[in-house]
Amino acid sequence: MRLAIAGFSLESVTFLPGVTGVPDFEHGARRGQSVIQGLTGTNTAIGGFLDVCAAERVETVGILDAGAGAAAAASEAAFDKYVAEIVAGLVALWGRIDGLLIHLHGALATPSRRQADADVLGAIGAAMGAEFPVGVAMDLHGNLGQAVLDHATVIAGYHKSPHTDMATTGMRAARLLIRALRGETKPVMAIAKPGLMLPSIFSATMLEPLAGIMRQARAWETRETRILDISVFCGFAYADVPDCGMAVVVVADGEPALAARAADDLANQARLLRFQLYKEELVMSVAAGVEQALALAKSAAKPILLLEHADRLNDSTYVLRALIERGAKRVYAPFMFDPEVAAAAIRAGEGATITVDFAGKTSPQAGGPVRLTARVLYAGRKVFNITGPLKTGSQIDLGETALLDAGGILISVVSVQWSAIDRDCFDQFGLRPEDFAFILLRSKTHFREVYTPLAEAIIIIDTPDWGPADLKTLPYRHIPPGVFPVTQA
Ligand SMILES: [Zn+2]
Repeated sequence: MRLAIAGFSLESVTFLPGVTGVPDFEHGARRGQSVIQGLTGTNTAIGGFLDVCAAERVETVGILDAGAGAAAAASEAAFDKYVAEIVAGLVALWGRIDGLLIHLHGALATPSRRQADADVLGAIGAAMGAEFPVGVAMDLHGNLGQAVLDHATVIAGYHKSPHTDMATTGMRAARLLIRALRGETKPVMAIAKPGLMLPSIFSATMLEPLAGIMRQARAWETRETRILDISVFCGFAYADVPDCGMAVVVVADGEPALAARAADDLANQARLLRFQLYKEELVMSVAAGVEQALALAKSAAKPILLLEHADRLNDSTYVLRALIERGAKRVYAPFMFDPEVAAAAIRAGEGATITVDFAGKTSPQAGGPVRLTARVLYAGRKVFNITGPLKTGSQIDLGETALLDAGGILISVVSVQWSAIDRDCFDQFGLRPEDFAFILLRSKTHFREVYTPLAEAIIIIDTPDWGPADLKTLPYRHIPPGVFPVTQA
């Protein structure tokens, strides 16, 4: 057996200005044999595909892997280019492959395509035939509808957020597809949508009641041997698309009614728990959050974690400005995006003092720049292999990077959008979390795996940015009626 391997992924924040273009996807893109070599052994969906294929003695042929994290909608040119590349790669292998394993995020959109993941699969089906076997591994934050199911043989989504199970999700998708290709199973899929949108900040799967819904999904899999796999997708609330919101996808062996029954049951549970899933009371204003952090720090044994979670471009300045104004010291704000300031620090050199207008520049929602006078502690290019529990082993290139000390407030400045979610943002600069009183992150759930044990307290702060907890502040145009909490109270 021989399978083609591909990936094309973006978590599209459709409200962001601009588009995510080809250069953004090209950063870190892999092609051909480099997909196989570069991702073998990594904690990624494709790493999981490759692991199972190797164990099952299935040959693999790499086509393309291009992803751009979470950013503005993909440009039409980027969509056309990467879909054409994947389709051309498959057509060139016509008659020599048995199927495709592909990693899609599930929240891909372009300005004109609001079901873009389904469109990717549709283009593959149009070229290779509707019966061409395709196994898909997706992100828990995918916005799925029936259209995606129509073009896939099997779909498996991450069970966890933080996504520590990227590779095991790829393994599930690979095993499902290989078993079907060997004639051991006849997979059928069902989807049910509870009509519920969750801000990313509330999608941590270890927190109740979401953890309970995930346990129920595992219980269905254990109880019913004809159920092969269940994915509970939390959806991505910042993509304004008709399929926005949670979805349950069930893969069953030849029993569509059973698949539908399990999907409906889990979707109904989520629907009933919608007010508990949407925990508005956990979110604080900038002033109240900073006030509480300063008060807690007086007696804290460990750092206080401030989460400026609504920031989607890693450069908003609301909490940083408030901490400066309140005279906070021993602060670390890792991986803030400002290529101009990183370049200025590199020009000045390590040991120099620079005065800069820092960050807050990506959009009017980012809070505007903060004037900083800071000593350059490090200046150079940062390329390293991720050591944290997500995407473990993958290489990341942050471009021109600097570590600044603005009077007890340390900031690492990067030129590539990258979220600080593990210890790499400390280790790369010889820093230690325990030496700080405050750590200012922009993560939603992924930080929890590493930071929950490191932190004295986690303070969630809402800012008037592109990823707020209060979804009703966003100008949705494409969400259908009846979706909690935006089009239904
Ligand atoms: Zn995700």
